[in-house]
Amino acid sequence: MALRNKGLLIVFSGPSGSGKDTVLAELKTRDINMKQSISVTTRDMREGEVDGVDYFFTDVETFEKNIKEDYFLEYVKYGSNYYGTPKKRIEELTDEGSDVFLKIEVEGGGNVRKVFPECVSIFIVPPSMDELEKRLRGRGTETEESFNKRFAIAKDEIKRACEYDYIVVNDSVSLCADKVCAIIEAEKLKFSRMKALVDDMN
Ligand code: 5GP
Repeated sequence: MALRNKGLLIVFSGPSGSGKDTVLAELKTRDINMKQSISVTTRDMREGEVDGVDYFFTDVETFEKNIKEDYFLEYVKYGSNYYGTPKKRIEELTDEGSDVFLKIEVEGGGNVRKVFPECVSIFIVPPSMDELEKRLRGRGTETEESFNKRFAIAKDEIKRACEYDYIVVNDSVSLCADKVCAIIEAEKLKFSRMKALVDDMN
């Protein structure tokens, strides 16, 4: 029965502007047993962020010590900062039966798939590149140079969407969350997870 009662590990990626944070916030309001993993990062805390809520903020020395201690399920250097997913908490949460979302970039997503092939990977895309441009520009915080940089990174990330199990278009946050819930439901009904139940019937 163990696999049947274990929560799913869900790699949740998408380019900046795809709206993955909003979708995650919507999912948290739903009646599902989901938890979001809190990553460790060496980047500076942004205004409004809370240590231990948005990230665990740390320094490079401690992060590199943690790498050596095999503390992370995966980690990447993204830009000039480290980001990593703590392993132990993920195991505890999935053992408890919670479905754990890892909001991570594509490189980390690939690393998780290698060590955890049974994970479910979901890639969120905007309805179109025009819409993505509108969303990135709409933030009002971008210079032309920083917009171009973010847009180019987004395009590169979308090229790796083919590595994911599911692609969900975020045209409406509520519909997008519905689709993610449907994926979770269907994944839980896969034979590999239902085998113990069927075996018990024989
Ligand atoms: P930000 O600095 O904007 O919070 O995050 C930058 C990117 O790093 C985002 O795509 C975010 O999803 C990703 N990220 C956050 N935590 C982790 C992590 O633990 N591992 C990996 N691989 N990526 C992460």
